Amino acid sequence: MDRHFLEEQKQFFIETLLELQRDLDLKWTGEQGFQGDEIDAFEAEKERVKILRFKKRSSAFLRKIKRALKKIESHCYGECEECGAEIAMERLRARPTAELCIDCKEEQEKIENQTYKQSAKVYELFSANSDKVNPDQVTKAFISNSGKIEIVQ
Ligand SMILES: [Zn+2]
Repeated sequence: MDRHFLEEQKQFFIETLLELQRDLDLKWTGEQGFQGDEIDAFEAEKERVKILRFKKRSSAFLRKIKRALKKIESHCYGECEECGAEIAMERLRARPTAELCIDCKEEQEKIENQTYKQSAKVYELFSANSDKVNPDQVTKAFISNSGKIEIVQ
């Protein structure tokens, strides 16, 4: 991997990390000890939910950035976690925290899509047979190789 490119990515990660941490700190100070009338309380609750959502998203992103930085340190940044191939530089530019090469990513998306379609199919069948099967009691359902739906109740 190109050393100059790596340095650029590292710089980007560090800057983003600092920025995110600063934002998180700033956002958090608004949270404490709210007092006011009902409308303000409602607004405050909305704000609190927004902050929580922001914090959740940010911490996930923070984790990814920290992982990427560790990889740069241990000289395996840009290696696909699935097949070990080098992830294309354009992909890393567009998505600096990418952990899979484009082939493996597409494969993963295909599988996720299939799983989603399967769940939709299972749900559809349940709805059609709700007199026989209670969807709430089903802990696991899957489509067997022969295309039959197997249900674990
Ligand atoms: Zn790969």
